[in-house]
Amino acid sequence: MTLEDHPQIPLGVPTAARMYDEALGGKDHFEVDRQANARLYTAIGEDRVRSTAMENRRFLGRAVRYLSQECGIRQFLDVGSGLPTARNTHQIAKEVDPGSRVVYVDIDPIVAVHGRALLADDNTRIVTADMRRPESILDNDEVNGFLDFGRPLAVLFVAVFHFVTPEDDPGRIVAAFRERQVPGSYVAISHLTTDGMSEQEQQGWYAGFTGATVPLVLRSEPEIRRVFEGYDLVEPGLVRPCDWHPDEEDWPRTTSLFGGVGRLGPTS
Ligand code: SAM
Repeated sequence: MTLEDHPQIPLGVPTAARMYDEALGGKDHFEVDRQANARLYTAIGEDRVRSTAMENRRFLGRAVRYLSQECGIRQFLDVGSGLPTARNTHQIAKEVDPGSRVVYVDIDPIVAVHGRALLADDNTRIVTADMRRPESILDNDEVNGFLDFGRPLAVLFVAVFHFVTPEDDPGRIVAAFRERQVPGSYVAISHLTTDGMSEQEQQGWYAGFTGATVPLVLRSEPEIRRVFEGYDLVEPGLVRPCDWHPDEEDWPRTTSLFGGVGRLGPTS
């Protein structure tokens, strides 16, 4: 299989999935993505960008482990999953229960191209869809026929909403998923934030994503908190990802993001 077999993959513009892959030290990116990251590295500092990506990825891993181990979740909808890398959601979930089911969703078709080869598994599915149209995911037969929305399920939106404009409204997207979830379900969210970020660094992030296939939107802590509406934040609340259920690993620590996990309580 070659990329020529996939004309829908944008080769001439950077994509968030491939830029993130490069920042994490992966190999599924092109020159245009490396150039975009080089702009980010010049503006913000390479260490800062790579640490932010790593800190985020580790948050994702700890959130999935917590949801599997502490909350008994066996179904995950990983929205904006990114390219397969080390420690993907299904690998972590299956360490707790090999029967755990995971659906990966991403707008970037390269995720499914690489994912089908690397994530192929009876309990794993990959769908190419745009979360800005939640019904394209929620009413997708591959999602619906595979996950049971009548049972608790975790939806992951990790490092994705800073690619959604105020007009497309992350709160509206989360609400559409929340309405299909039963009590005892969860949401996990992380987001790039303006809080603690200098004006210069904010401009650097925007410059890096200029021309990318999805726009960048940084948000303040209160704006990110609002996206959890309808869920109860589990301890320790909305915090820097490195402070969310930290483990013994020596993880990077930045002030670029907030992350948290919310639980859907019983409806009154
Ligand atoms: N969630 C993974 C993680 O945290 O490790 C990957 C995060 S990566 C920074 C952001 C991902 O969101 C990219 O793979 C990008 O293609 C995807 N994405 C951006 N906008 C999207 C949309 N509207 N619908 C689905 N995926 C989207």
